[in-house]
Amino acid sequence: MRSKLIAVLSFLFVFSLMAENPKYVFLFIGDGMSSPQRSMTEAFLKKTKGEKLLINNFPVNAATKTSSANALVTDSAASGTAIACGEKTNNGRIGMSADNTRKIYSSAYEAKQAGKKIGIITSVTINHATPASFYGHRASRNEYYEIGLDLIDSGYDYFAGGAVASPNNEKSPAYKGDIYELAAKAGYKVVKTREDFHALSRENDANNKVIACGIEGPGYMPNYLDNHDGLLLTDFVKKGIELLDNPKGFFMMCEGGAIDVNCHANDAATVIFETLAFNDAVKVAYEFAQQHPQETLIVITGDHETGALTLGFANTGFRENIDKLALQKCSFGKVKDKLKDLGKNKPELEFDDIKPILTDCYSLKFDGPADDIMTVTAAEIEQLKAAFEKQYKAEKKNGNAVQVTAQKIFNAKVGIAWHSGGHSALPVITSAWGNGSERFNMGEFENTFISHTLKELVK
Ligand SMILES: [Zn+2]
Repeated sequence: MRSKLIAVLSFLFVFSLMAENPKYVFLFIGDGMSSPQRSMTEAFLKKTKGEKLLINNFPVNAATKTSSANALVTDSAASGTAIACGEKTNNGRIGMSADNTRKIYSSAYEAKQAGKKIGIITSVTINHATPASFYGHRASRNEYYEIGLDLIDSGYDYFAGGAVASPNNEKSPAYKGDIYELAAKAGYKVVKTREDFHALSRENDANNKVIACGIEGPGYMPNYLDNHDGLLLTDFVKKGIELLDNPKGFFMMCEGGAIDVNCHANDAATVIFETLAFNDAVKVAYEFAQQHPQETLIVITGDHETGALTLGFANTGFRENIDKLALQKCSFGKVKDKLKDLGKNKPELEFDDIKPILTDCYSLKFDGPADDIMTVTAAEIEQLKAAFEKQYKAEKKNGNAVQVTAQKIFNAKVGIAWHSGGHSALPVITSAWGNGSERFNMGEFENTFISHTLKELVK
């Protein structure tokens, strides 16, 4: 009898907790991440490690439409604003109505009004379109300096990730000084080194507002494929949880911004490693959520698809070699730099000189056996030679011709095709776990629905 009573009471206790809004809300946004990017990363992880991708194994999933107020294909400013503020706006706008007459406010802003602490994290610059949509109000996403001023004005508690872009733009009509210095004057603790970042602690910094941006360099965070030693999204989420936890809870937005950057370059291997880094950041939140299951909501979405990525390539038929993407050793940016440096140092460059770079970075074999897929065919050599002429010998030089061609050849060998260097209108997937996740169990919705729902749940 007694044990029955205890069971009923504990059920009522759990039920009453579930009826409450979540104390901790995590929103993860993969920039440029739709179902092809998620499926490709999952197939890679399964083939190389036999593991599942956590973000693809949440209990609630819904297709999410991404068009902006003035275009079927959105940019990250309009989609960020839709996800953050719940209103469709024109491409390019940040936290402003489509006609640019009204400021519109985000779920992070609402969470702050409700007394929660706020964290904003990204792998690109912290005043880039997606993070900016949670605190900024500007006609154009390119007003980086002014968005930096909005960042300080937000009074949010924790910013971490890539640097502040254009932090000292003296040409801005709103110029008041360096953004980092202004932030420090406004009471932010500005953290500039890995050491100081690791030293941040709940004990000493729970009452500090923190900007930990630009530690890994003056722009975006380096790609994981090129730099395994630096700080990662996981570090920023872990530290965020440590610093932000308080009796009223927190709202944390974490963007995998480098997924989009590398989709634009049709660089599948780097996209996979950035999506894995994003997945690892979700894992940190998920582990935290296991300790606070009734109090936590995790939502994962993308802002749009980038690259019109297709898993499959006509010439390889039903064969795919996704695990072979592990043979790419540098991101497209690094390959480009290496090829550019080669041109600088050797004015009388010959085609054979570029081969070692293509072998090191893409594992392409120039003298391999014919049955090895990484062996470059005669037709592919012709393509590379033509690109070499364009990049180094033509009167009007195309600075990236070799990298772009080698990337295409590599992609075709592994069975991946891209149809665009820009965004596409493919819907994305929104996944949810935890308290409030059932609200997202809708089959399909517009991206603005995410904001409407979170605004209710962060109260
Ligand atoms: Zn993009």
